[in-house]
Amino acid sequence: MSDPVLFSLKGRRALITGASRGIGFTLAQGLGSFGAEIILNGRKADALDTARAKLEQEGIATRGAVFDVTDQDQVIAGIEAVEKEGPIDILINNAGIQFRAPLDQFPRNEWDRLISTNLSSVFFVAQAVSRHMIARNRGKIINICSVQSELARPGIAPYTATKGAVKMLTKGMATDWARHGLQINGLAPGYFETEMNAALVADEKFSSWLCQRTPAARWGKAEELVGAAVFLSSDASSFVNGHILTVDGGLTASV
Ligand code: NDP
Repeated sequence: MSDPVLFSLKGRRALITGASRGIGFTLAQGLGSFGAEIILNGRKADALDTARAKLEQEGIATRGAVFDVTDQDQVIAGIEAVEKEGPIDILINNAGIQFRAPLDQFPRNEWDRLISTNLSSVFFVAQAVSRHMIARNRGKIINICSVQSELARPGIAPYTATKGAVKMLTKGMATDWARHGLQINGLAPGYFETEMNAALVADEKFSSWLCQRTPAARWGKAEELVGAAVFLSSDASSFVNGHILTVDGGLTASV
């Protein structure tokens, strides 16, 4: 059982949404280093080209898939184009946004943008990919959740609502699709130093609160999500389904 082949992703093709930077890019690097061919998704072709060039330099085979995950027609066309070239064995639904504002002033358009980017997109992409996975009777889907799938924080109730829903959508997908050979799990990061959190990282008061609140007493680094993502993408997790794997330095373990 200690065979590293259990964790090998050689011969697998992984589609990662929102992979031009941040957690998505780092997971692309991580899965690529375990042998997967990586299909990077994002909205901007030039940002994807830059990300792909970095991975190719590291010897990772890549392909770009430019589409907006909030647009179901674009998603379906994008997935069909990728599938024409080869199967999507692993899907990581990572694309997401954050918007902070007092709840009583929260703008309607930002509410809509959060729901479509963080929640509807997970349904659109997973549904389009699942049709192919079901036909093959195998496939891995990992939905990026958050500690905010469990915990409320001031100013981000709509974000927490989307991440709570993604958690339950993950369990629902597992309930419906496990019988077709699919494995659908969630990965719930705590607080990580990415562009999404740039303002919080720069905010000393917040950082000091976070370090006191987190048993590991620090921010996470995106590379620290790779092990969990490789586990959920590989044969090592062959009987894990509908599980949310939290990687948060102990944040949600303590009060
Ligand atoms: P970033 O802002 O650094 O990256 C977000 C990525 O999503 C970018 O590549 C962006 O590309 C892409 N994206 C955004 N909207 C769309 C869209 N409509 N279609 C396609 N791609 C899109 O965020 P993080 O890396 O920090 O976050 C990644 C995921 O992890 C998110 O789901 C987030 O909620 C989650 N998460 C992050 C945590 C953290 O601490 N950072 C903690 C918990 C969860 P572009 O804008 O160029 O199109």
